[in-house]
Amino acid sequence: MLHYLYTYPETIVDGDGIRFSIYLSGCRHHCRGCHNPESWNPASGHPLTREKIEEFIEAINSNPLLDGITFSGGDPFYSPEDFLPLIKEFSERTGQNIWCYTGYTYEELLEDPARRPILSYINVLVDGRFEQSLYSPKLEFRGSSNQRILKLK
Ligand code: SF4
Repeated sequence: MLHYLYTYPETIVDGDGIRFSIYLSGCRHHCRGCHNPESWNPASGHPLTREKIEEFIEAINSNPLLDGITFSGGDPFYSPEDFLPLIKEFSERTGQNIWCYTGYTYEELLEDPARRPILSYINVLVDGRFEQSLYSPKLEFRGSSNQRILKLK
């Protein structure tokens, strides 16, 4: 079962506008200087149960101020067989614009048959590993300048 670290019901730092952010557990990239190494373990945090999914979708659908949903982590693409049905359900049941952070590059995801289908549910992908030497606090919505904010649709 997927686990999540925490959620932010209204954040302005994880993409455009006011967003409901879900931080999923599990990451294989192990970037030096990672802001959140406890997120690497896929069992960190709390189980993302059916009850929690319903709770989050209800919170999203009852908040008229939201501009979208953001999936972050960890790396949401850690377990594509779990993430694909999850993002599909959030997309279809909320109709919200979706941003997603990942340590993979867009090109790596395109070449991966298990992960590529997930891209069709993402409006904006922030891609690439965190590179400490390319870190700047002035970068909006990303940690290092190698990471890209890619509008997929
Ligand atoms: S991809 Fe993100 S969560 Fe994963 S190790 Fe790198 S900075 Fe940390």
